[in-house]
Amino acid sequence: MIELKTPDEIEVIARGGSIIAQLFRELSHRIAPGVSTLQLDSFAEAFIRSTEGAVPVFKGLYGFPGSLCTSINEEVVHGIPSKDRTLEEGDIISIDVGVRLGGWCSDSARTFPVGEIDAETERLLNVTKDALEAAIELAVPGSHVGDIGHAVEETVAGTGFSIVRDLVGHGVGRKVHEDPQVPNYGRPGTGALLKEGMVLAIEPMIAVGTHQIRTLADRWTMVTADGSASAHFEHTVALTEGGPRILTLESLRVESH
Ligand code: MG
Ligand code: MG
Repeated sequence: MIELKTPDEIEVIARGGSIIAQLFRELSHRIAPGVSTLQLDSFAEAFIRSTEGAVPVFKGLYGFPGSLCTSINEEVVHGIPSKDRTLEEGDIISIDVGVRLGGWCSDSARTFPVGEIDAETERLLNVTKDALEAAIELAVPGSHVGDIGHAVEETVAGTGFSIVRDLVGHGVGRKVHEDPQVPNYGRPGTGALLKEGMVLAIEPMIAVGTHQIRTLADRWTMVTADGSASAHFEHTVALTEGGPRILTLESLRVESH
């Protein structure tokens, strides 16, 4: 069942979402060659908990040990933070994180370059970002779930890259994973009808090579079957009367200097 959220509930989700956006800004300054994924995870957990009542929602979810999923290069999702995994110049790292605040979840992911990356990898990041933006534009009342996936497909078509099809977006609410599933492919006008008050995590995952993935022996990390790089961008989006509202952005506020 797809639950609709009230405007007040959406405001609470946006407050949690803005913590994620601020966290990404902080992490962008800390992502560098030599930094371990556990260092990023420790920083993130402390940062999230520094807002009263906010908790990292992935920690312990289905038994996952980290606050962040840290997935490097060919790792698509669910990489486990480790002191033994350090970033190298030219890597990309996809960071996926959820926050629960006031009983409501938000979920967002971003792929960061580590130092200078090659032109093909930069193009991968840009195509994945473009796919997310195109998909978000279709997150409006009256659209269907299939319209969102179709927008991702249209964006990726002709780039030579592949859409990872085994992993999908989802509804977000009191639980981080709710109905409906939001695939990154689809036919226009098919799937669930979208209504005002729905909150969806839209999250294209795009690979340079094959769309096929496999799970490593740690039973968490999912990698591309051919070892090619993959990128992941995700926002939590509310469907409002006025159009899509991205809830995982930094809220505007006055800062003292
Ligand atoms: Mg996520
Ligand atoms: Mg998600």
